[in-house]
Amino acid sequence: MARIQRLDPTTSSRIAAGEVIERPTSVLKELLDNALDAGSTRIDIELVNGGRRLIQVIDNGCGMSPEDASLALQRFTTSKIHSIDDLPTLTTLGFRGEALPSIAAVAEVEMVTRPAEQPEGVLVRSRASDAPQVHAIGCPVGTRVRVQRLFSHVPVRLRALKSVAREVQLMQELVAHYALAHPQVTLHMQCEGRRLLFAPATTDLRQRLAVIFGQELAAQMLPISWQSLDLGIQGAVSPPSIHRATRQRQYCWVNSRPVRSPLVSAALERAYGALLPPGRHPVTALGVTLSPTLLDVNIHPRKTEIKFLHERAIFAGIQEAVEMVVQRLAPATLPWEEAPDTAAWQAITVPALHVGEAEAPYDLRSMAPEGAAVQPLTQIGNTFIVAAGTQGLIVLDQHAAHESLLYDQLMTAEPTSVELAEGFVLHLSVSQYNYVQRLQVSLAALGFQLEPFGKETVLVRTVPTVLHTLLRLGNLLEAFQEAMQRSTSQSSPEEAREHLAAALACRTAIRAGDPLSPAQMASLVEAVTHQRLAYACPHGRPTHVTLSLAELERRFLRLTGVPPSATP
Ligand code: ADP
Ligand code: MG
Repeated sequence: MARIQRLDPTTSSRIAAGEVIERPTSVLKELLDNALDAGSTRIDIELVNGGRRLIQVIDNGCGMSPEDASLALQRFTTSKIHSIDDLPTLTTLGFRGEALPSIAAVAEVEMVTRPAEQPEGVLVRSRASDAPQVHAIGCPVGTRVRVQRLFSHVPVRLRALKSVAREVQLMQELVAHYALAHPQVTLHMQCEGRRLLFAPATTDLRQRLAVIFGQELAAQMLPISWQSLDLGIQGAVSPPSIHRATRQRQYCWVNSRPVRSPLVSAALERAYGALLPPGRHPVTALGVTLSPTLLDVNIHPRKTEIKFLHERAIFAGIQEAVEMVVQRLAPATLPWEEAPDTAAWQAITVPALHVGEAEAPYDLRSMAPEGAAVQPLTQIGNTFIVAAGTQGLIVLDQHAAHESLLYDQLMTAEPTSVELAEGFVLHLSVSQYNYVQRLQVSLAALGFQLEPFGKETVLVRTVPTVLHTLLRLGNLLEAFQEAMQRSTSQSSPEEAREHLAAALACRTAIRAGDPLSPAQMASLVEAVTHQRLAYACPHGRPTHVTLSLAELERRFLRLTGVPPSATP
């Protein structure tokens, strides 16, 4: 780690937060941040008397040199940033250089620390008034911080503390949050010799979930793994059948920083939509990763809230990532399926989308009046199709929807093919030629018949019926190239077929920007109405979203259940 140095007054005035230490959790949080920033792989926490007598954190991180150790307890001394300009690229949890001095101002702090390159370490003690004292001491590599007699000179804060049991519970919650955000670190927490948590390091979030939520719940949680160009969302969420009265079990971390985010909670709410009973909340553990330049971490004194610079994109990303997983569950896992007599429930739920489930009790057919289909209304920006039913609005992404339909048709068991009168002659590169030769089986399964036609050249005799009018020489070559790049020599013929189908669907589908005829719009909308349209295209983008009546009512603050006369 870099050397600790004092921040210049301009920087310190722009980041100063007066690091509020208001209860034992605030101390523990700062010590955990420091231990993690030091690159520790194991952290041991010990509490006595709910943290009033002792909060001790031992880590095996990089430790501090004697000079750094005595600087660390002074205000605005940090090794993590040099100036305010470093904030946009910050990768550490701490950056203000205020935590240790703020703790030292309200408690006795004792630090024992040793970097790997030193044969021995130092002991640094601070008393609220005196300058820190430093002594050489033998100790393992890493840092041990002991915070004792918290608030013994600040009776107001001491009186404001909750019961010992409650303070311990708050600290357990905090450590659970950190444990989820940092599964690669072993965390051990005990209180007066009693073990409260032991989370061994793992690369598998599911194992962490089992430690924090218990085996049973963890086994039912649905994994989330979503990635766009500049945003990643990883973690797990509960199925709609599992919900809680509060949002307390919604854990979120952004670039490994545990945070509370109303934005994430709102996006989750939107993603589950009517799948959850009103006023109930899912159990979630979600990590967001994005470039630190798209975040402001300097908005909250305790750094437990952050600001996303592109809130709408984050909201949409989270909604999409979670919606894809929870909304495509079979209706059998929905609560009203388990309890069919919840009449009150049914009155306030709306037809949710259960694509692909022909027997779904609520489906989009009920969005239309008896016998009538959902009506395409218009195309927006030559990219989206808007359609209306009696129970809401559907918006389709024309490319993703068409792509998804083509992919499904190509992946049906027995696709039919059309023989070309002329045949296409394809001049391929050597690698493309070898690839096509190797994939004869997968290509035949899709409905292609290719014959060798001279050096690195093939003649396309038949093509899949669904692609007949859409295939051109150019998009066929592009699709082969894309599928070839995705496949490895280990890909099975079935995987190779999937890659080919996905690439062909993508290359031949209607594109964003293409103007559509009413008939083209109608046929895509018809696929939604008849539940033939998967929720996401083969690349994972949603094909359509629904704005149900209930959703519209919520947005216009016409709360369901309020008699119509109250909201005219
Ligand atoms: P900040 O974390 O904002 O830099 P702190 O007051 O929490 O400020 O810590 C001051 C400095 O002390 C850190 O920048 C870091 O260099 C060092 N430090 C604190 N705790 C540890 C630790 N557990 N291991 C190694 N270095 C530490
Ligand atoms: Mg810190």
